[in-house]
Amino acid sequence: MHESSMAISILRIVADEAQKAHVNAVTQVRLCLGDLAGVEATTLTACFEMLSEGTVTDKAKLVIKRIPATGTCTVCGTAATGRGRMLQCPLCKTSSVKLATGREFYVESIEVETLCKGDEHAEHTS
Ligand SMILES: [Zn+2]
Repeated sequence: MHESSMAISILRIVADEAQKAHVNAVTQVRLCLGDLAGVEATTLTACFEMLSEGTVTDKAKLVIKRIPATGTCTVCGTAATGRGRMLQCPLCKTSSVKLATGREFYVESIEVETLCKGDEHAEHTS
């Protein structure tokens, strides 16, 4: 499945970062995901949760920030916005649009729990 390989690559990035920073556990992973990235967010979340089991990201919550598709028409220069998976110029109806956003797929930030002295613990936000 496509989403599972995406989840694996996210987990690999996060595990790398976690190791570098000597963290105890990763509590949250923030991901930027463009609407045209071709990734199903719910499937990705499910894969992430399944694959993170027993790893440093075991307790991590995957937070997905959706980025809508936007672009500029290559014919008339009008700003085009996405409708579902299609990006179309509202004026001349062409789909010849130069994409500005919508294909994002990257880890924006991670929140971690570090092994600290004293009673310091991760903040809980809900
Ligand atoms: Zn146009």
